[in-house]
Amino acid sequence: MSLINEIIDKVKKQDPDQQEFHQAVEEVLETLEPTISKHPDFVKAKIYERIVEPDRVILFRVPWLDDKGNVQVNRGFRVQFNNAIGPYKGGLRFHPSVNLGIIKFLGFEQIFKNSLTTLPMGGAKGGSDFDPKGKSDMEVMKFCQAFIRELYRHIGPDTDVPAGDIGVGGREIGYMFGYYKKIVNEHTGVLTGKGLDYGGSLIRPEATGYGATYFAAEMLATRGKDFKGKNVIVSGSGNVAQYTAEKVMNLGGKVISFSDSNGTVIDEKGVDKEKLEFVMDLKNIRRGRIKEYADKFGAKYFDGQGVWDVIREQSLKVDIAFPSATQNEIDGKNGEALVKNGCICVSEGANMPSTPDAIKFYQEYNILYGPGKAANAGGVATSGLEMSQNSMRLSWPREEVDARLLGIMKSIHKACLDASETYGKKGDYVMGANIAGFVKVAKAMLAYGIV
Ligand code: NDP
Repeated sequence: MSLINEIIDKVKKQDPDQQEFHQAVEEVLETLEPTISKHPDFVKAKIYERIVEPDRVILFRVPWLDDKGNVQVNRGFRVQFNNAIGPYKGGLRFHPSVNLGIIKFLGFEQIFKNSLTTLPMGGAKGGSDFDPKGKSDMEVMKFCQAFIRELYRHIGPDTDVPAGDIGVGGREIGYMFGYYKKIVNEHTGVLTGKGLDYGGSLIRPEATGYGATYFAAEMLATRGKDFKGKNVIVSGSGNVAQYTAEKVMNLGGKVISFSDSNGTVIDEKGVDKEKLEFVMDLKNIRRGRIKEYADKFGAKYFDGQGVWDVIREQSLKVDIAFPSATQNEIDGKNGEALVKNGCICVSEGANMPSTPDAIKFYQEYNILYGPGKAANAGGVATSGLEMSQNSMRLSWPREEVDARLLGIMKSIHKACLDASETYGKKGDYVMGANIAGFVKVAKAMLAYGIV
């Protein structure tokens, strides 16, 4: 058995119920095979074995009082995976599906993503099985305060700097930062995604969606193509989906979908500025369901169905796809339908939204495929820029942050292409992203000796 297979086998045996983590480890390690012969020093120092083991896992109780005065108990997580190249950095996810396997997969991916950004950030992820949906503002505040009451002792501006993810946006970051500031009596950049009035960075809300679009534009350019006149599918309707849609529209693409966990909207006339503003108000302020879009603008609504099922069943023509909701949203069947319906490019705004079966079809049909750890790295990169601005105690203008984000996405794209070429599979962004992200972290781990 090869070294890589031995490690994958061990990871699966050790924690048999952590399927998402197994999937992420398998996907990364399998593409690292060519690094083994080039770096015998990595093998000797057992870097491959060490990188799949988190530095530390923090699991805690989060008790809070709901509006009726009842005690509620949730579970909190922070997985500090690897800080070889900088302080731990990665989002917090509040969603009922959250468990240790999901947080470990996200934290593991974050190591390579953060390394790719060229900024000094280690990998971490955290969250809770708390569901903000249907909760009052007061309940969300009480939960956030209870969550940070424990987490505060494990984080800090030079130790671990969390950010948002699914279910954690500006409101939640505000409540958590406010409480952290009160209990440690410090106003530092301990969380990113903060409001502009208290240390946030311009372009941070836009960054993941804009970045995924910039990455797609770079991929398209390698084949002499762009967004103009293209039919673009976006899944989800949260932070990443909204700003992906905005940037795609600016670049001349036609966005024809949004979704949420209740259903899918297909708008064949295309999303425009007014419709997008409606979605932002619906999702960020009124916290309603995407069905309201279909009711208001006369678009088609598919109740209880995900975007990718709808594309397959309706044989919709798609040129470019941005999965921007959650992990494993595109299975093999829908991945195949996507490429057969004409899709030439998939740029992942979400983390690991394509199953290994779907990825096989992308590769078989040789479409442009930007895996999440490269394509959605603009979010954490701009969080890194927020940290820099906080440390310097100044704020860069919007144009400057956007220009830096564009520059970072271009350099990530180049790093992926260069690594894929060096290791013999030019244009394979999966391999390129994994190897480019890994080698930098591995070299740092090697330099530290056995720690
Ligand atoms: P939001 O909470 O703002 O939006 C998530 C969207 O996805 C919502 O429309 C939500 O619908 C939908 N969704 C979530 N889970 C499911 C599910 N199980 N089934 C169907 N739909 C679902 O999150 P973000 O936009 O921030 O995050 C989306 C993805 O992007 C995640 O994979 C996240 O890890 C990734 N990402 C986010 C970054 C960021 O900066 N925010 C950075 C890098 C990656 P509903 O409201 O009904 O739940």
